[in-house]
Formats: sequence, C-alpha cells, structure tokens
Amino acid sequence: MRVGLIGYPVKHSISPIFQQAAFDALGIDARYELWETPPEQVAEAAALLRQPDCLGANVTIPHKQAMLRYVDVVDGTAEAIGAINTIVRRADGCLAGFNTDVEGFARAIQEDAATTLRSKRVVVLGSGGAARAVVASSLADRVAELVICARRPASAQLVLDEFARRGFGAGCRSRAIALRRDSPETERAIRECNILVNATPVGMAGHSDDEEMLFPAEWLSSNTLVCDLIYNPPLTPLLRAARQRGARVLNGLPMLVNQGAAAFERWTGHSAPIELMRRKAMEALGG
Ligand code: NAP
Repeated sequence: MRVGLIGYPVKHSISPIFQQAAFDALGIDARYELWETPPEQVAEAAALLRQPDCLGANVTIPHKQAMLRYVDVVDGTAEAIGAINTIVRRADGCLAGFNTDVEGFARAIQEDAATTLRSKRVVVLGSGGAARAVVASSLADRVAELVICARRPASAQLVLDEFARRGFGAGCRSRAIALRRDSPETERAIRECNILVNATPVGMAGHSDDEEMLFPAEWLSSNTLVCDLIYNPPLTPLLRAARQRGARVLNGLPMLVNQGAAAFERWTGHSAPIELMRRKAMEALGG
C-alpha cells in the first residue's frame, strides 16, 4: 500500500522518516512517499489517491485549501478551518478529508505541556491555516478567552465569525486585534494570557525574519506557557526570550508528531507508536 505527501516543495519534510518507521514497527506493508506536486498537478495527485493501493495522503503547503475540492467528504472541523492536511481512502473508495493539526495541537498541550486549554486565556499570533487549527482546538476545549493577534485583524475576525457561524465557541469570549508593537491592546492581551501561540513563520530557519520577535520580550510573563508551532530551530527567538523570562515553552515538534500520529491512526485503524515517531523526528532534526 502507499501513502503520499502532497505539497510543493516537500523534499525537506521529515514526515516520511517518522511515518515509515511507524508502518515498519507495526508490520504494515505500506510506503510513505513524497509526491512533489506543483499547483498545476494537484488534480493528477488527487487521481492517484483513488487507486486501490493507496491508503491516503498528508497534504501540506500550498495545497491544504485546494485539496478540499478533490475529496468526497470533509470532517466538520476541517470544513470550518477551510483546509485539510490528511486524506483517507476508505474501503468504499470514498476520499475523506480531515485536519489533524487540530488534534495534534490539543494532544501536544495535554501530553507534552501537561496542561489543558480549558478555561485558559489564549492568544494566537497569525490567522493562517495553522492559526485556524489552534483556534479550532481552543474553541473545542472551551477556553475562557481567545484573542487572534494578526497583522490583518479584519480577516482574522472573519475567521472567528466563520467558526461562530458553524456553532463553535459558545461561551468563549473571542476577538481579533492588530499585531502591533505600539498597541496597548496587543500588549495587554499578550501580558495577560495563560497560553501564547506563535502561528506565524517568523523565527523559522531560513525565513527572512528568522532572528526576529513580533513584539518586545518584556511583554512575556513567567506565568505564560509560550508555544511556537515552528520546530526548526527547536528554540526560536520567541522561545529563547520566554525561557529567559522564566516561562514554560513548547516548540512545534510535539504538534508535528501528534498530527502525524492522528493521520496514521486514520489510515491504519491502529494506535500510532508515538514515542518511536517522536524519537525518529528528533533524530531527523539532529536532536
Ligand atoms: P500560513 O497559512 O501562510 O499563515 C501564516 C500566518 O502568519 C498568516 O496569518 C500571515 O499573515 C502571518 N505572518 C507571516 N509573516 C508575518 C509577519 N512578518 N508578521 C506578522 N504576521 C505574519 O502558514 P501556516 O500553514 O499557518 O504556518 C504557520 C507556521 O506554523 C509555519 O511556521 C509552519 O511551519 C508552522 N506549522 C507547524 C505545524 C506543526 O505541526 N508544528 C503545522 C502547521 C504549521 P498574513 O495573513 O497577513 O499574510
């Protein structure tokens, strides 16, 4: 059997390493392949998924939204987010789309940071695909307050409106505000939150802003759990500053491994060997 990673580019992905290790450990005869897919070949990649020897796929940048139109059924949360990262070819040949980033983030918070989102004040930086998965996790786990802090707050508000329209987040105070260094509102939200999540690429290796922070380090409190969805480098400027100020930190590796584990479980129906997957992911990143 085969599973593909559909994205462009995909050659630096570490998913094949930990997913293949998981298939092998469970004795499942499956190959995890890189399906490098330029935008004009998305339809072709989707057609491959319908072959009887295909278990499904992961979907990554830039096709998480585009692939929605090639699946037959979409899970409700993925629909609200407007993006899928996992496709399962079911026994009846139907293609089902999911967003396991939601579960990946929730499991990382519970199992790796040993806390929960429930009743917390959460600030999410950014309003792209990953931010929306964090928003979905936060609303599902009934945070007390959710603030999206984004450079385009009007479009972030549309994200919240879409979740509300679909019935997510009753009882949770949520709002979108501007991500600005000179805004007292931004400062207050970041200073007062229990959990802060960077869902922008700022701080990522190779990104133009890889040495940057989006706001002054003085706003970070030692009482805040500071999460960065970036896993390379393992300690971004944000996490380094948070640590220096005595805060607990969590990088993006647990979410990556947990979203992969959730996808594996959907393809195979078996529990994922999560510790093995985590070890392989860390080895692949040189950790
Ligand atoms: P995306 O859809 O492109 O969204 C990126 C968001 O960051 C957008 O809201 C964008 O704002 C904002 N942004 C970009 N540069 C910015 C800057 N200089 N200042 C302020 N905001 C900025 O990307 P994504 O898929 O959500 O990914 C975001 C990050 O999460 C990436 O680093 C990715 O590697 C990571 N990620 C990790 C995992 C994991 O499993 N650990 C999973 C998914 C993603 P605009 O909308 O205004 O452009």
